[in-house]
Amino acid sequence: MKCDKCGRENNETAVYCKSCGAALKDKENLIVRMNARLNFLAVTMGLIVFIIVLFIASVLFSGLVTSKAVPAAVYILFVLVVSVFVGSILPGILGSKTVDDGYINGGFLSLVVLVLAGIIAAFIFLAFMGVASTLASVFGPAGSLLGSGTSGAVSSLNSTSSASGGDVLNMILNLVELIASLVLILVSGGIGGALGVLIKDQFN
Ligand SMILES: [Zn+2]
Repeated sequence: MKCDKCGRENNETAVYCKSCGAALKDKENLIVRMNARLNFLAVTMGLIVFIIVLFIASVLFSGLVTSKAVPAAVYILFVLVVSVFVGSILPGILGSKTVDDGYINGGFLSLVVLVLAGIIAAFIFLAFMGVASTLASVFGPAGSLLGSGTSGAVSSLNSTSSASGGDVLNMILNLVELIASLVLILVSGGIGGALGVLIKDQFN
């Protein structure tokens, strides 16, 4: 950035001017500064690695869920964390200068993954709702039973209308678990990106 006092061009991260020592004011807000450090091409390449690792990890760890050793939600979270972590290493290596850049690029990759996962989950949810309501309208009460039986999402939706104290506690616990899972995925992306920078530094 340019010094207001002497006009000398300084490093983007510099706090004081290297020429006259004046304090450099940051005119850009946080979003603009973060955006300048993002490398979209490197993140896209990392997303391709993420998808490949996602498929491999899904197959590799599928035994966990079929043997009922862990609940399906834990299995999905574990596979996502591993895939985001490995996928974020590439933007760390290819698109980040400093460890901070690694956190930003890796974190951005996990954010993209979370948005995509949210869209897919919403589509699945809406599709099940559609199936359930169609069955209900065709078969009447028996159909609605059948419909809600096919989807946990719909049956849990029905139960919320008659929520007792225990159900509310369960909903809060589910919400806490969901937020903790989202944070875990975000953090694994950031750490993966930072690790990528450290790996790159080893070879430089
Ligand atoms: Zn200056």
